[in-house]
Amino acid sequence: MRISKTLTLAAGLLTVLACASAAEKSPAYSKVDLAAADKLRERALADPSAYQLITSLTTEVGPRPAGSAGDKAAVSWALREMQRLGFANVRSVEVAVPHWVRGEAEFAVITPWPQSMPTLALGGSVGTPAEGIEGEVLMVKDLEALKALPAGAVKDRIVFFSNRMERTRDGSGYGRAVTVRVAGPSAAAGLGAQGVVIRSISTSDERFAHTGALRYAADVSRIPAVAISNPDADALVRQFETGKSVRVRIRSSSRDLAPARSANVIGEIPGTDRSSEIVILGAHLDSWDPGVGAIDDGAGVAIMMTVAKLIGELDQNPRRTIRVVLFANEEFGTSGSMAYVEALQGEADRHVLGFEADFGAGPVWRLSSRVNPAQLPAIDQIFRALGPLKLVRGENEAGGGADLEGLAKLGMPILEPGLDGTRYFDVHHTANDTLAKVDPAALRQAVAAFAVSVWLGAQFPGDWERAKTPLPSRR
Ligand SMILES: [Zn+2]
Repeated sequence: MRISKTLTLAAGLLTVLACASAAEKSPAYSKVDLAAADKLRERALADPSAYQLITSLTTEVGPRPAGSAGDKAAVSWALREMQRLGFANVRSVEVAVPHWVRGEAEFAVITPWPQSMPTLALGGSVGTPAEGIEGEVLMVKDLEALKALPAGAVKDRIVFFSNRMERTRDGSGYGRAVTVRVAGPSAAAGLGAQGVVIRSISTSDERFAHTGALRYAADVSRIPAVAISNPDADALVRQFETGKSVRVRIRSSSRDLAPARSANVIGEIPGTDRSSEIVILGAHLDSWDPGVGAIDDGAGVAIMMTVAKLIGELDQNPRRTIRVVLFANEEFGTSGSMAYVEALQGEADRHVLGFEADFGAGPVWRLSSRVNPAQLPAIDQIFRALGPLKLVRGENEAGGGADLEGLAKLGMPILEPGLDGTRYFDVHHTANDTLAKVDPAALRQAVAAFAVSVWLGAQFPGDWERAKTPLPSRR
């Protein structure tokens, strides 16, 4: 009994000492800031603004691919809505964007059993001659399988990438599968193929094709590339499994127009004693064209704007400046975020903490970070403030999203309330990306998780030191 009591006392003393030394490095949040975090969380869970913003953007603007009339309308919409919400320093900063247009596309099996299948050109794909292209199909699972083929096997063929992406909560299945869409067309062209068809990068069994950007290599000819839905890809595989030769025809009128002008749209909640330090909230204003971009990325736009609005409505202004940046053209080359970083000219270090929302409409299930290890105790405090939202604690290896990559590479710390991507790739980049796919309650929970994290990020009593861990490879 006595021995155990002594041990307990000693352990208690050690805990006190350990806490004291951690607190020296990472000061604790004030009661006032934590109370404001609680208030923000409760207000966010009852606030309809985010759903209203997605409704407005998808109804009044709709599809907004880079360079389109919708893209310009989205910029006007964002300026108007930021002003309406009372943001400070609302402005647009012009960005040059590529202007690719989809036109129409057809995909049809010619032999052994003819049938046509709904298709979408991959973003950036060249079109075909008016009569289309026709050829024998070579089916391979992925890029590795393509590279393993003997020389000459691919010449004049239409390559079919058949691999199916895996459903995951954190989007890692997408990262593993998407390489055939991005690099497959040029890999096939380099071996002499005349066209490419991919199984959509999709977790859905609905008959919707998924688009998304390809990236042509500079040194090989540009060949047309399209996607078909999972059920149609399955049907194509079944035609192969008979052992008969499969021929298909692809027709597409997609083409490049002259580059166009778009803009990043920026608005702020000004800080107070640390106003020169910026906490940046990024999302992207553009969308692919088949749907109306409700989940990608109307949701991110709405989450970030609502978070800033809720913080702006508090009795106290944040210590650091909260800057919402709605980036131009994330989908087809991240033009907006690259222009943003290029224009910084030594101001990169003022961006002391970054958040990005580009993974659907919630809920948030995890809190990850990529901060200097000295600030991990602060992340622990933020995680505790998120308690009622029932998140799990992630690693210190967050990547942010595509639009924060440039700043993260310069050492900006990232805090990542992780959006649940379990069903995201059912509708991502399809005609089915509509308001009907947004659950208002999940969206409010996501706003609450971001609002608490952003607020405490802006109020941190210490310094956000530069992150030191290398940025993980892009998903
Ligand atoms: Zn997106």
